[in-house]
Amino acid sequence: GARYDVVVIGGGAGGIASAASILKRRPQTRIALIEPRDEHYYQPGWTLVGGGVFRRRETVRAMAGLIPKGVKWIRAAAASFEPDRQAVVLEDGTRLAYSVLVAAPGLKLDWDQVDGLRATLGKNGVTSNYRFDLAPYTWELVRNLRSGTALFTQPPMPIKCAGAPQKAMYLACDAWKRAGALDKIQVEFRNAGGTLFGVGAYVPALMDYVKDYAIDLELNSNLVAIDGPKRTATFKIMSGEREGELVERRFDMIHVCPPQTAPDFVKASPLANEAGWIEVSAETLQHVRYGNVFALGDACSAPNAKTAAAVRAQAPVVAENVISVLDGRTPRRIYNGYGSCPLTVERGKIVLAEFGYGGKLLPTFPSWLVDGTKPSRLAWFLKEKMLPAIYFGAMLKGREWLVTPERLAHTPSGYEAQDALPP
Ligand code: FAD
Repeated sequence: GARYDVVVIGGGAGGIASAASILKRRPQTRIALIEPRDEHYYQPGWTLVGGGVFRRRETVRAMAGLIPKGVKWIRAAAASFEPDRQAVVLEDGTRLAYSVLVAAPGLKLDWDQVDGLRATLGKNGVTSNYRFDLAPYTWELVRNLRSGTALFTQPPMPIKCAGAPQKAMYLACDAWKRAGALDKIQVEFRNAGGTLFGVGAYVPALMDYVKDYAIDLELNSNLVAIDGPKRTATFKIMSGEREGELVERRFDMIHVCPPQTAPDFVKASPLANEAGWIEVSAETLQHVRYGNVFALGDACSAPNAKTAAAVRAQAPVVAENVISVLDGRTPRRIYNGYGSCPLTVERGKIVLAEFGYGGKLLPTFPSWLVDGTKPSRLAWFLKEKMLPAIYFGAMLKGREWLVTPERLAHTPSGYEAQDALPP
């Protein structure tokens, strides 16, 4: 079969952004991109679809229009990795050889981990903003509910956009509040984890909303089964005296965030770590065992928040380091773990969480403009009006824009000391 300088797996945020970033830096690079789907989704928009702000069609684009010119699109799914032979095997058995591999296949939404869930998705009041076709159903349910019980769930970490389960809830509560229905609706947030949000600095602002909306917050409570027709959900208590106990709740609507794992073909490959993710250096994003393999986005093992914002910071790092390896040099550019989660606490206001490894706060803006730990109107404006344009117009085009917060003097990065690795 053919041989390319670079083979990219995935035409999502990570695959397109890194292919474009490599070409920007070195236009003659021969790149093939493997992606079976005709459509590319702007998933960060789905929260706003579920909140009645965006139309679903605003969150999808034709794949053909986004793959950079000069990149060979292989319209198929990758099935397995042969890193010792420097090759990827497609589902039809075709082998593609590479000098450098960039893997960005995203993660797997594991609906089947919850008994009965798949069969009732999209009906019986069961919805999820994690799927393009279901996000509009969230808004339909919210608009029509005027009394009863609304459940919102969050599975064990890691998940993509860890704030999304509660974003859906806050936007729903805000709509019910405006309609004068909130005091007739019992709202429960059942979170498998032990904290409302992983980075403590943002918790007080979020707790204010939990109290204001009178949300019943249950931590360490993991959704294990749903009976759609009976409208009941079963949760398992994850810690404490009642650990292992099952609790059944009745609902009128339930927003489910599904459990998430690495894709099966990644889990089964020599690239995976024990948990199934592609095992890369958290700093260079280079594979720890195969020097000519890189990974970014949701499928990689780096312990950042799995977000498109993280991909925005990772793609230029991968691009520069890929070119180093093509040239026989050691990768030198460092990723500081930046990720961001714009928490839509009410329509028109966002708590803009931005942080890197170890929960270190990495705000893009000075605090007089946007204080990330407080609800902000400007942050909502950014999310609704600017981020889609930055995603499609800059990030997917390989332009570094709003990329590295450590560039701004007020946000020194904890990784500066390692910015210049020895060659
Ligand atoms: P994806 O963008 O999911 O792309 C993976 C691609 O790989 C897909 O096109 C897929 O078809 C392809 N693929 C899969 N298997 C194969 C295979 N075998 N061979 C070839 N190709 C394959 N991020 C933010 O920054 N801010 C937000 O506010 C935000 N909100 C979110 C809200 C929701 C509801 C969701 C679901 C996500 C949200 N995210 C947010 C997260 C963000 O969308 C992801 O982190 C980001 O898309 C990850 O990029 P990726 O390239 O790793 O994966």
